[in-house]
Amino acid sequence: MPNLDSNIEYLKGVGPQRAEVLKKELGIFTCRDLLFHFPFRYIDRTQFHSIRDIHNEGEQVQVRGILRRLETVGEGRARRLVGSLRDETGVMELVWFQAIQWLEKSLQVGKEYVVFGRVNEFNGRFNITHPEMEEAASTENGGAPARTYDPVYPSTDKLTQKGLDAKGLRKLLRALIDQIAPTELPENLPDYLLAQYKLVGRWQALSKIHFPENRAELDAATRRLKFEELFFLQLRLLQIRTRRKDTIRGFVYSKIGAYFNRFFQEKLPFELTGAQKRVLKEIRSDLASGKHMNRLVQGDVGSGKTVVALMTMLMAIDNGFQATLMAPTEILAQQHFANISELVGELGIQVGFLSGTVKGKKREAILAQLASGEMHIVVGTHALIEDWVQFQNLGISVIDEQHRFGVEQRARLWAKNPAGPPHVLVMTATPIPRTLAMTLYGDLDVSVIDELPPGRKPITTKHYTEHHRLRVQGFMREEIAKGRQVYVVYPMIEETETMDLQNLMSGFEALSRDFPMPEYQISIVHGKMKAADKDYEMQRFIKRETQIMVATTVIEVGVNVPNASVMIIENAERFGLSQLHQLRGRVGRGAEQSYCLLLTSFKLSTEGRERIRTMCETNDGFVIAEVDLRLRGPGNIEGTQQSGMLHFRLADLARDGQILSAARDIALNVLEKDPALAAPEHARLKQHLASESRDAKVWSRIS
Ligand code: ADP
Ligand code: MG
Repeated sequence: MPNLDSNIEYLKGVGPQRAEVLKKELGIFTCRDLLFHFPFRYIDRTQFHSIRDIHNEGEQVQVRGILRRLETVGEGRARRLVGSLRDETGVMELVWFQAIQWLEKSLQVGKEYVVFGRVNEFNGRFNITHPEMEEAASTENGGAPARTYDPVYPSTDKLTQKGLDAKGLRKLLRALIDQIAPTELPENLPDYLLAQYKLVGRWQALSKIHFPENRAELDAATRRLKFEELFFLQLRLLQIRTRRKDTIRGFVYSKIGAYFNRFFQEKLPFELTGAQKRVLKEIRSDLASGKHMNRLVQGDVGSGKTVVALMTMLMAIDNGFQATLMAPTEILAQQHFANISELVGELGIQVGFLSGTVKGKKREAILAQLASGEMHIVVGTHALIEDWVQFQNLGISVIDEQHRFGVEQRARLWAKNPAGPPHVLVMTATPIPRTLAMTLYGDLDVSVIDELPPGRKPITTKHYTEHHRLRVQGFMREEIAKGRQVYVVYPMIEETETMDLQNLMSGFEALSRDFPMPEYQISIVHGKMKAADKDYEMQRFIKRETQIMVATTVIEVGVNVPNASVMIIENAERFGLSQLHQLRGRVGRGAEQSYCLLLTSFKLSTEGRERIRTMCETNDGFVIAEVDLRLRGPGNIEGTQQSGMLHFRLADLARDGQILSAARDIALNVLEKDPALAAPEHARLKQHLASESRDAKVWSRIS
């Protein structure tokens, strides 16, 4: 008798040939692998549909009725066998194109059948094509509904050739489940959790996920297995976090000092929002704890992350440390530098700028000041982590726009202070849904700035099609006449780059005709330009020498031109939701009412339409991120592509937020009480984690 770890070959009904395809096609090597090959849907055999109620094309239905008529119609390829089935509520057609002769012989008009198949719509009427037919009297239950849901498994052509279609796999699983002793799959959750959260046992769940007898059993099994999947992931992530916190010491910032207080009292030009205050408190408590801070701050565009970053850096300076602020592009870094210099200049804080373009004497001077400790804050690009940048006592690094910095770069940062790793604060303006954050950044601490500063005018977003181009131009003229500036953005993706560039250039030329010099000046920025040219064009726009900026998504990140209040996005249907939202975030930064106009072709896909509608309906980045997750699935959300952590067997981050939240809370709770899982009631957890880590491919990719 095989056990769960036996080679799949030895399961009855498999053998060497089928084992080979199972391995190749589905990665099923052992009986255990097969047990975890879950159905992707079920056929409900527990009830009969009434013919009257059948009106969903594509639905699988089971009907019981009397065959009233059976005849061959049509010629050649249209030749088909047509039957009509009647139950108490109505009549429907059954159609076969194949095996006509055989069916004509075996089916009998006047008899009662259990009929099963997929609903088709033809000429406004519903039929079933190629239904499975079984004479009611000869079914297992004598025509009563069967007791089970039939599982349907993912299969492939090659498997089907070996007899392992959905039905064949069903047989194998039936055999496997009948043979395996339940003790082979020990419970891995503590009894108290099962009781508290009303979860069914592990064996029960695994057998019923394959062969549920009703909806309730299926739901209970699914819930339990999703919980298990998410819970152990959280347990592991939180263990990593706890271990890191316990083993890596962080510099202690014991006091809030004069720089911080003077900035707060004398310089801060506005009242902090509640969310900013809360996040600052969270950071403050990290920094005073003696543990190493690794915190992610999520905040929508315009939520005021910069001042949070700055005040965090002031905490470092008050405690005798230096601070860096790194941005992904030169332009952004320069903007931060200008902004921060202005905010803290008079406090006697030395702020420097460093990037690849700072050369010669200037660079030497800055490097010297950093090494001596004279310079308190340095703002810059990736250049800051180069080996030739040495600090006297670096205490914190703030990284703006997280997903462009890799793990390796973070590691180099850590080496910047021989006395210990500087604290790390990562700020991202790409809101991601909570469920994703808990998973992707589950080993980090996450703060959310979920409130915009008061008095912001929401950006008005409108959808226009090609036909409205003249109206859009008229609007541009009006806004420019009021002294505003306008972005016009074109899509640019690698696969269609040449065409996209042409599209952009012809758009630029058209605009140049419609908005002629000298009255109008137009900047253009795209990825194929030299960095210096891009910068020059950008600067012209920032200095208001040009009124229109034609660009690709290179302007997506962080750029701040408060006077630009109109964002026009061409071919908006080609952008993803989060990208549209990021682009829109470039406007709405000044006191003026801002606008975002989404231009699309007349015809849109359903999904495209939903993206555009969402943009027009809301300005809330978190809401948008949720819709994005629902539309595209977790694997396609920006910045998550390489993550192996989003592959779940059953859990779906777009839908299982509640289970995930519960799983995380429970995992937190368990680890708080028992960090080493040493208590007897946690022995199962410990054992399961140990057995899982044997194939820990996924885990090597995180932390
Ligand atoms: P982001 O989170 O996108 O980086 P910024 O830090 O650039 O946002 O802030 C956007 C604008 O809002 C800046 O002009 C900033 O001075 C302003 N701001 C930030 N916090 C507040 C606040 N609490 N009240 C009013 N304005 C604020
Ligand atoms: Mg910012």
